[in-house]
Amino acid sequence: MPLLVRNLVLAPGEGDELLRSRVACRFSLCDDDVVDVRLVRKSVDARKKPQVKFICTVRCTLADEEAFLARYGGDPDVQPITEPPPHAFRPLSHSGRIVIAGMGPAGLFAALRLAEYGLSATVLERGKPVEERTRDVQSFWARGELDVESNVQFGEGGAGTFSDGKLTTRVNDPNISYVLEKLVAFGAPPEIGYLAKPHIGTDRLRIVVASIRRFLEQRGFDIRFRSCLTDIVSQGGRVGAGVVNGDEEIPCRFLVLAPGHSARDTYAMLARRGILMQPKPFAVGVRVEHPQLLINRIQYGRVHHPSLPPADYALAYNDRTSGRSAYSFCMCPGGVVVAGSSEEGGVVTNGMSAYLRDAPAANSALVVTVGPADFGTDSPLAGVEFQRLLERRAFVAGGGDYRAPAQNLMAFVEAKTGGKVSSSYCPGVRDVPLAEILPPAVTDTLRDGLRFFDRKMRGFLTAEATMTGVETRTSSPVRVGRGGDFQAVGLGGLYPAGEGAGYAGGIMSAALDGIRVADAIANQISAQEGSF
Ligand code: FAD
Repeated sequence: MPLLVRNLVLAPGEGDELLRSRVACRFSLCDDDVVDVRLVRKSVDARKKPQVKFICTVRCTLADEEAFLARYGGDPDVQPITEPPPHAFRPLSHSGRIVIAGMGPAGLFAALRLAEYGLSATVLERGKPVEERTRDVQSFWARGELDVESNVQFGEGGAGTFSDGKLTTRVNDPNISYVLEKLVAFGAPPEIGYLAKPHIGTDRLRIVVASIRRFLEQRGFDIRFRSCLTDIVSQGGRVGAGVVNGDEEIPCRFLVLAPGHSARDTYAMLARRGILMQPKPFAVGVRVEHPQLLINRIQYGRVHHPSLPPADYALAYNDRTSGRSAYSFCMCPGGVVVAGSSEEGGVVTNGMSAYLRDAPAANSALVVTVGPADFGTDSPLAGVEFQRLLERRAFVAGGGDYRAPAQNLMAFVEAKTGGKVSSSYCPGVRDVPLAEILPPAVTDTLRDGLRFFDRKMRGFLTAEATMTGVETRTSSPVRVGRGGDFQAVGLGGLYPAGEGAGYAGGIMSAALDGIRVADAIANQISAQEGSF
């Protein structure tokens, strides 16, 4: 039985191949006693500066594990591995009656999982293939020409395609390694399998997305771009068909609804069809950008080594009086701030990095929690209107041409004007007090939070940093009602999935939710096999 061995230390610059002798040395073994060592987790530990080190966990096979466990079985860093049996994919007969709407991580992983059962589906994506989408996005960033169906939110690969491709998640799910293995198989860097904070980078992510599409096509999936699910036809309390672009009906028994958090027209359609939806809390704020070297200095002290990744951070502040929290979110080391609009007349910020994370600035969302009490009405879509209001204010403040309002960080905290404004956001920024755009409660919590963050990371509060706004698409403003069988409350055969349905936040958790939904469909088909 293989063993997990934790807390092995490597200094910056020391290669992973040394881990075998570290295991031997740690337990007074000969190198030959350690038959095999595989790195399963590696993280940076910079808590005791100036000492910065890597902490590693390995899976190892020893020549005499019984004798080893008799001696070290009580060591807290040693653990025998009991692996769960692999998921059994019983081949199911092809039904031809599954439709997936949305080709983000939820839709793509639902499709990949269905393929494991030998099933296929029609996949609808309102946007374009990733290669064409990339050209549209670049044209928006260069010239402010927005295509409302092909942008940072919409198109093959979903919202995270122009992202840092961070794969961290707070969800604990046995399928995490399944997702990571699939991503590596389709072209993601292999180290995502063991890094504590794995990331793919937008450049590699686009390649992964295109190779998943090619694989699905080979498996008989019918992939349709520029195909928006515009309506759902129901028959006797069950999905009967999906309507595409308002004119084509595709009969189906199973409809996976994975449209992401920006499909506002799709939410409106669900509301018209009486699908149960509830407003849900999310967070709004700005993107902050610091020089990456400054963040490295704060996090690593004076240690410089090319093997250390560009430093990141995660900060949180809770205001006990108001009950609101301010926190950093979707931090992109060595990245850029991106224009993430998907609606005309709205400015939305987000962040992305390439695989190498080699841009000169570090950016992160700094956001404050908001909930139904802030939205003004109790309509299920009140959160959408709240987002839209802030995005329109930002559009007007930026000059009405998709430039974004931006402000020096110190000027924002001190409620002044002036100071250097330097943002990587394209198509450009305009120096505007952000307090004129954000709700006062958000501004106040953000200011308090920033002062608190500076106590955690001395130097975070600096006139070298710029804030660009507004960051509104942090998670879904809506949750679509879903039962324990993953079907929409009141409409059999409709499977709301991923972030847009309110069941995920981020690439990894959306992919995991897509898998859960596909497994639920496979279970249904398995139970009904023969009745088609
Ligand atoms: P989406 O990825 O939003 O996919 C939904 C898809 O459905 C889209 O392709 C859309 O075009 C399509 N669609 C919408 N409506 C319809 C319809 N009616 N018919 C047919 N198709 C439709 N998360 C991370 O974990 N790490 C990161 O580093 C990260 N960075 C991000 C950077 C940016 C710029 C953005 C915008 C997001 C980032 N996220 C990140 C969030 C992450 O992208 C989302 O959480 C994730 O993509 C949600 O997956 P999803 O499949 O549920 O929805």
